[in-house]
Amino acid sequence: MAELSLPEEWMLNSVHPTEESDLIARGIVHCHTDLSYDCEMDLGDLCNTLQREGFQFVGLTEHDRDVTSERYSAYVERCRSVSNSDFVAIPGLEIRCTNGTEIAGLGVEEMVATGTPEEVVDRIRVLGGYSILVHPWKRGRWHGPYPDADAIEVMNGKVDGTIAPDLGLLRSVRLARRSGLRANVITGLDMHEMSQARATWVECRPAAVTQREILDSLRGGKFLSYTAAGTLLSSGAVSGRSFFRMLGFRAAYRGWNGILPRLPRLGRELLLRVTRTSIAHLKRPPGPTLTASAADSMK
Ligand SMILES: [Zn+2]
Repeated sequence: MAELSLPEEWMLNSVHPTEESDLIARGIVHCHTDLSYDCEMDLGDLCNTLQREGFQFVGLTEHDRDVTSERYSAYVERCRSVSNSDFVAIPGLEIRCTNGTEIAGLGVEEMVATGTPEEVVDRIRVLGGYSILVHPWKRGRWHGPYPDADAIEVMNGKVDGTIAPDLGLLRSVRLARRSGLRANVITGLDMHEMSQARATWVECRPAAVTQREILDSLRGGKFLSYTAAGTLLSSGAVSGRSFFRMLGFRAAYRGWNGILPRLPRLGRELLLRVTRTSIAHLKRPPGPTLTASAADSMK
């Protein structure tokens, strides 16, 4: 039988990135509330729900459209008031750059002026925030070098679903990292509604559950991104097993999205009904068992 070999850039990094602290902080990254023009979720309700579900933080990314400095300051204050010693609401923005690219800034406590992606990343950094180039392939493939952001979102709940990352995008980021790009790899839920399954999340190892420590551990690359198909290290490395699961799920996802719109309405409804349970299972929300076994398989 022919031997299967993976391209070198897929190989799992043997260094487990999260050994320094015993504390695990699990959070949803890329999330909106009613400060965003296209979302109606209340910040307090969202945080209560996520805390009850076992999360320790949420990395918020509010659209900057129509948000004034006054409204944003009140929102940052509100994030503080809904945070406690076990759960942190990290305020943040999703800034639309002058070329249409969107960059999220987690932890910025004042408005960030728009500009080129590089300028926006710099402004976020000056404000002590953590910058993420979100859904870089939403409007076609990214051309040219990636900006010097802290992370690049390789799976976005709205653009890619939540089962597996875009492997082409992941590969492109990993290749860029080999040529000197510093950005880590992260997944984002792009949550706008409470009904969205919390099917992708980030786990970091901060020294304490505070905004500063969580952002520091993200900045240091001490985090993992979880998807239904497998776990990604912040370097973008995945285990061989996860890689093949991701490949299969990704192909199924694209096939599904190709077939579904072409079916007659009745056929589409029937197919959605018979597959509802399996799909819900695939998008299962996080649980301790899954987390522990996934974390073990990364060692
Ligand atoms: Zn968003």
